[in-house]
Amino acid sequence: MRGKLVYPYSDELLDYEFSKTHPLKPDRLRLTHDLSQRLGLLDLTTNIKPTLPTREELEIYHDPEYIDAVEECQDASCRNIRYGLGIADNPSFPGLYEAARRYVGATLDGMRSIIDGASNAFVISGGLHHAQRSEASGFCIFNDIVIAIMHLLKEKECRVLYYDFDAHHGDGVQNAFYRSKNVLTISVHQSGKTLFPGTGNVFENGAGEGEGFSVNIPLSVGSGNPELIRSFDEIVVPLIESYRPNLLVTQLGVDGHYMDPLAHLAYTSHGYEYVIRKLKHMSEDICDIGWLAVGGGGYHVTNVARLWSLFLSLMLDVEVPYQIPQGFLEACEGIDYSKCPLTMRDEQDVMQLYTPREHVEKDLDRVLERVKELVFPFHGL
Ligand SMILES: [Zn+2]
Repeated sequence: MRGKLVYPYSDELLDYEFSKTHPLKPDRLRLTHDLSQRLGLLDLTTNIKPTLPTREELEIYHDPEYIDAVEECQDASCRNIRYGLGIADNPSFPGLYEAARRYVGATLDGMRSIIDGASNAFVISGGLHHAQRSEASGFCIFNDIVIAIMHLLKEKECRVLYYDFDAHHGDGVQNAFYRSKNVLTISVHQSGKTLFPGTGNVFENGAGEGEGFSVNIPLSVGSGNPELIRSFDEIVVPLIESYRPNLLVTQLGVDGHYMDPLAHLAYTSHGYEYVIRKLKHMSEDICDIGWLAVGGGGYHVTNVARLWSLFLSLMLDVEVPYQIPQGFLEACEGIDYSKCPLTMRDEQDVMQLYTPREHVEKDLDRVLERVKELVFPFHGL
């Protein structure tokens, strides 16, 4: 019998705040924690306080000179263009080094718990998928996902499947494992032609030993639940079944939600729910080590809280009420930068806002066909 779901969280994680006007707001985590608590979900999880990783643990992936540069960038005036620090996306701030390390610690703690026997973990602060080996990028300083996966691979020989449905391409994770077949990365995202970081086209398939083990599904502007679900059923499911990973790692950024201010996709809670339910079943059937879920993007803060709490309930297999608890509505009314949703799930017909969708469907047909041609032969499909 495997252990309970592990949930690493402490208020110290809220120190990762680039500036008061930066879109990556600590309220995303604070409100998710608050709502999950009100829903009684955190009574069902093993709650642990994230620790700080050692220098050695950071060096498992990051360049030592880059780590030094982050450590030296300790006030808002620090700029280090070479390493992507102190620029518009990644301004420096006092305490940056410790805050960035704590994010790594939370994900590493989740991974360690799974290695030690927990069935799965949800690390809401994790998911900094743009961080490169020696460069900060897209709000991400250290790549907690890569470090956690490399930690596991050092401990035991195994296969990891990484699935990322954040609106942005999971470039940092893909780059780290581009030549490896021990980690199969799959990213479904708004096309790099219209969104940061610009990468993630269908032809990026891995190299050397890893050829066929990097998979990209770029979507057109306006893509919604049908595209999320079709790409999942037609590409992700067969790959999970053929690759048979020992561990599933998922980046669950919710900036693809139709209300998100930074991207241009149109997912709703129902599309996400379909995918999470299937991931749960498949990880239970196939993955003997378990499932490590991390957060990621999402910039409509109250929606992030609602969706990640919903995901946690699905991972725990418990039902949540239709209405969002009254106490949470009062807590989020004090926030002036986004409206509070009133229900845990979106209205079913909200997708009707996004018509016509003909070109979106045709674009997806072409992308899925090409991905199958390029990738499936490496997996006996
Ligand atoms: Zn994103």
